[in-house]
This record gives sequence, C-alpha cells and structure tokens, in this order.
Amino acid sequence: MQDFSYFCIMAGIYIHIPFCNSKCAYCGFYSLPSLKLKERFLVALKAEIVEREEYLQRGGLRVKPAMRPALKGNHDMPTINTIYFGGGTPSLLSIKEIGELLHLIKETYPVAEKTEITLEANPDTLSLEYLEGLRQHGINRLSIGIQSFFDNDLKYLSRRHDSNHARQCIDWAKQAGFSNISIDLIYGLPISNAEQWNHNLDLFFALGLPHLSAYALTLEPNAILTKQIELGKVLPVNEEDALRDYEILCQRAAENGYLHYEISNFCKTGMHSKHNASYWFGTPYIGFGPSAHSFDGVSRQWNVSSVEKYIDARHETARLRDQKVPCPASEKETLSPEQLYDEYVMLRLRTHWGIDLKWLKREMGERFSTYCEQHAQPLIAQGRLSQTREFLYLTDAQMLFADGVAEELFWE
Ligand code: SF4
Repeated sequence: MQDFSYFCIMAGIYIHIPFCNSKCAYCGFYSLPSLKLKERFLVALKAEIVEREEYLQRGGLRVKPAMRPALKGNHDMPTINTIYFGGGTPSLLSIKEIGELLHLIKETYPVAEKTEITLEANPDTLSLEYLEGLRQHGINRLSIGIQSFFDNDLKYLSRRHDSNHARQCIDWAKQAGFSNISIDLIYGLPISNAEQWNHNLDLFFALGLPHLSAYALTLEPNAILTKQIELGKVLPVNEEDALRDYEILCQRAAENGYLHYEISNFCKTGMHSKHNASYWFGTPYIGFGPSAHSFDGVSRQWNVSSVEKYIDARHETARLRDQKVPCPASEKETLSPEQLYDEYVMLRLRTHWGIDLKWLKREMGERFSTYCEQHAQPLIAQGRLSQTREFLYLTDAQMLFADGVAEELFWE
C-alpha cells in the first residue's frame, strides 16, 4: 500500500462564525440571522480550539522525520501558515472577541510569524475604528462582501449596505493600513446588463485592489431568492447572462494584469489567497465551528450544521473529557486512494495550476497518472481540456465547465 498522505509541514485553520445580521436572498450558507447564541457559541468554539489540538498531529498527516527539525515547537505538529475567519459574518464579532480567539489559537498551535490571517467582512458591520482594531490585532487580509457597486443589484440580492457605503468601506480599509484586500462581486444578475457589469469592473480596477472573487449568481435550493423566483416575484436567473458576464470578466481581468488563478478568483502577482490555495493543494487544515470541515491528509471530518447542536456537543465532549469520547456532532470519512485521486483532479482543474501528471505518478502511482492521461485524450481532442508538457489544465473559456470535465477524469 502506498503512502497517500501529503508530504507537508504546513497547515491552515478555518473558523466558522455562523451569524449574520439578516439573511441575503441568494444565500445557501449555514448562518443564523440573529446573535442570540453568540456568547454560548464563543464558549463552545474556544473549547473546540483547545480540545482538538491533536487533530493535525494524530491523523493521516505524517511529517517525514528529516523535516522535523525545521518545525517550530511541537515537532509532530505542522506550522500554521494561514488562518481564515469565514461565515456567516465574522465581522459581527467585536475586536475583543477576535483578539481573544487569535490569542487562544496562537497559544495552542504553532502559528508561523508571517501567517496570512483573513477575515471575511460585510460592509454593514464596518467602520474605520473597527478596521483599525482588526489591523492592530493581527488581521492582515480582508475579504469584503461588496457584491455590486449598484444599488439596484444590492436591493435584488437583499444586501444591507448601499453602493456609497461599499466604497467608503474600501477607503476605510486602506486608511486602516490594509493592503491585502479582496472584494466579492456577483455577476449574471437578471436585472443587470453587460454595461452595468463592465461599470462594476471599472470601479474595481480603479480601486487598485490586489484580489477579486467573482461569482455567478446561482440558485441555492434553500435560498429565499429561489422561492421568490418560483413564485414569480422577481426576475429569474438566466445562464446566458452569467456566460456573457464571465467572458467580460476574464477578458478585462487579463487586460488589467490580473491572474485568473481559480474559476472565481483573480489576483495581482503573488496576491492569491494562500488559505484557499491550500485547499486546492491538499494542505491539511482544521476547521472550527458549526459546519466547518477539516482535512488531515487522508480523512475528512465535518461538524454539524447547527449552532444549537454544536454548542450541546462541545458541552458533552468537555463533560466526558477524561474518557476521550469523539465529538457527537461531527462525522468523519477516510478517503480511499481513488477518492483522493478524484479530489485532486476536481480541485486542481479549477485552478490555473492544473493537473500535474508527474506529481500524480510520483505521489499516487503510475496507475493514476496513466488513467488520467488516457481519459484526457478525448477531452483534449474535443477542445474541452488543454495540455502543455505534463500539465492538464483548462483555459479561461474552458474553466467554467471544470466540473463536467473533472467528472470524465474521475476514477470509474
Ligand atoms: S452575509 Fe453572507 S453568509 Fe450572511 S446571509 Fe448574506 S450571503 Fe449569507
């Protein structure tokens, strides 16, 4: 049996903050539109951060002995290189609460000095004072949910901020000392058009920000918008609008010097999200909070998508600490070599790095690299996939169909 664990001495931490001020119409993420449970949630979250300290050492992650001297502190624990507060709306936490969480993480895990620490923020929660506080407490990357610089779009999406406040927040973030700023934009809105989307992009480029995440509006099964469309209350989403806007986005990002490094992500040189890139590179990570996922190199684990159940489970785990019972509100799946191969194919095809056949052969074995190369040939002939030397990848135009191409390369 070959060793399919990734040879890696880095890891990431994800913290899910499951609260929002209200629910946006298109949202399919797990979050509660109320802060009622915040205090109890933070107690449970801190307990999980401490209790799962061994996760990255104990699981499938095996650090080769020769590399151990390079590790800081605990030699069985990989260094944490990225920390990501996602949600929900992490910027609903106070500066003090964020400071306490970061302090606890740094006390419990070997966090590298130059760790990328990202916080997702929504404009309706931001002020200059708050942003300065974040900077002082070590947050060094912001991902701001702008979504659009047009009030009609923001209304359709039922966002709480308006376009003026969106721009104000970006100015404040710069004033507070942030240089690593990403914004989210949504395209393919039925009430918008190519001219308006171009104008959104004009505003983004004029701001000189190093990173953009742009998503097509999709209808999530549990989203309010899906219901509203079914009832005929708002205009339906049209796939052609999304395709048109995606083409405009790819072309204009390239003209403005942005690298299209993942289906939905664009950056200036070296400014990609290191945390998100680590998912695509199979770097182990530990996720805290309801619905958060963890990956230790060979197995995946995920917490229950319910704040109440999460709080109760952490309480129970703490009560039975001496018996070392696994948390009753998380599930675990060990991935077979074939599943690890599928995952590698799916994740890497989404990125401009593509599938590295040499890596596949070296790390997973020849049967996987040969299988992948053989199944790639018809896709290349159909123009759905490209190959340069040992790399299989998707061009800009092909990228939007990554999932369909990946399916054809999956292990049978
Ligand atoms: S702020 Fe984000 S997570 Fe919260 S409801 Fe809106 S889209 Fe969903």
